[in-house]
Amino acid sequence: MKKNYQKELDRLINEIPEGQTPSLLLHACCAPCSSYVLEYLSEYYSITVYYYNPNITEEGEYIKRINELKRLIREMPLKNEVIFMEGPYDPEVFFEMAKGMESLPEGGERCYHCYELRMREAARIAAEKGFDYYTTTLSISPHKNADWINEIGERLATEYAVHHLPSDFKKRDGYKRSIELSAKYDLYRQSYCGCVYSKNVVI
Ligand code: SF4
Repeated sequence: MKKNYQKELDRLINEIPEGQTPSLLLHACCAPCSSYVLEYLSEYYSITVYYYNPNITEEGEYIKRINELKRLIREMPLKNEVIFMEGPYDPEVFFEMAKGMESLPEGGERCYHCYELRMREAARIAAEKGFDYYTTTLSISPHKNADWINEIGERLATEYAVHHLPSDFKKRDGYKRSIELSAKYDLYRQSYCGCVYSKNVVI
């Protein structure tokens, strides 16, 4: 039976003891995807946004996206404080990972490994810094495979001994809300996923 990640997340949120605000390391890919996730989860968690995206292979694009995300965090009224943390930027790590998969279509095996590359770093940092949970904004996109994201998330949680927050943020009109928030905050919405191989694909 297909898992309902939104229901799993609902259960975990309902189980948060009264008066407590667990810490969450949130891997974020860009401002538009983060907008709804921050609005939603900052009600319940103390969030550190972790920007680790070596898959954005052009530096100018990387900088544009990171600046938009920082601006969004500054401008959005959020219930609990949100901290921003930038990871290392090294597209060579991505190119090495993508070797032999350059011509695969978006949504294929290269993307599975791309999710894992980024989520692994988030899981590692979450474990190292003692966060209660880690997760990623990636599942908000209708173009991203939520089953893969959650399977990777749980596997890495076991490997790094940290808790993963299940997600399918596109549910409950999360994607639609991210479009509304992008308009409200006049966010830059990129026309491709991130790597040079996805550049001619409209998302
Ligand atoms: S298309 Fe997107 S998810 Fe797939 S490899 Fe490129 S940047 Fe990563």
